[in-house]
Amino acid sequence: MKKIKSFIFLAVCIFSLQVNQGVLVNNSIIDNISNQSTIVSADSKGDKKNSSDNNIRQAKKIVKNLEKEPSEEKLLNAKKIVKKVKHKETKSSLKKRISKVEQTLIIDKADKAVKNLENNQIRENISDAQQITDRVKNDDKKADLNRRIQAVSNAITTRENDAEVAVKNLENDQNRNNISEAQTKTGYVSDSEKNADLNRRITAVISAIESREAQEQAAAQQAAQAAQDQSTATVYITATGKRYHLSPNCRGLNNSKSTSSTTLSDAEARGLTLCQFE
Ligand SMILES: [Zn+2]
Repeated sequence: MKKIKSFIFLAVCIFSLQVNQGVLVNNSIIDNISNQSTIVSADSKGDKKNSSDNNIRQAKKIVKNLEKEPSEEKLLNAKKIVKKVKHKETKSSLKKRISKVEQTLIIDKADKAVKNLENNQIRENISDAQQITDRVKNDDKKADLNRRIQAVSNAITTRENDAEVAVKNLENDQNRNNISEAQTKTGYVSDSEKNADLNRRITAVISAIESREAQEQAAAQQAAQAAQDQSTATVYITATGKRYHLSPNCRGLNNSKSTSSTTLSDAEARGLTLCQFE
């Protein structure tokens, strides 16, 4: 009986020892693992924090530099860097600063585009100026730029209309006196296609005028020649008659004994008129 009791005691001791050891082993493993993972995550957090601080530092530096000396290139670069910033408040404040600089660049560009349009008033420059002006946020500035664009646009249209009227007038009244006005007004049309079209129309009228003048000149020459021919044409007269005759065999001359020939202009100079039989 005593042997059995001591055996049971021993068995219980061994069992409890094993259990304890097991628990100990397990605990230490768990501790170890959790310690390690804590260390690992602390390290990566530190790295992330450092790289995020670096990003912010870099972004702030670049934005400051952009503000100091704004340029398109710096603007693009700053946008790229700030995109990487994770910290929300910092990101949005940097973005605000960038868009402020962007607006000054846009206004500057719009000013230049509008000035260029005013100096070189062609439709192509209107769309350039309009596109950049549309991106200006300041209402007063935008309205001012739009007014200037509109003024140039109106001036272009007015010049085109004036030229159109002058060319149409030339087409309707194809007179040399109308050419120079059409040419001068077309000269003010800056749109190259419109200008070329108006010039083609002017050229067409000029050649029409020239061919008409050539025809008129030929006709005048013919008429002069005919008049010349006529004045030197031979006619027949009598010593006392009041008529001249185209044919020497005219019956009006039948009774005449003094028929002679002369030129028509001489007969007319003598006040003779054409015989009624002819
Ligand atoms: Zn006669």
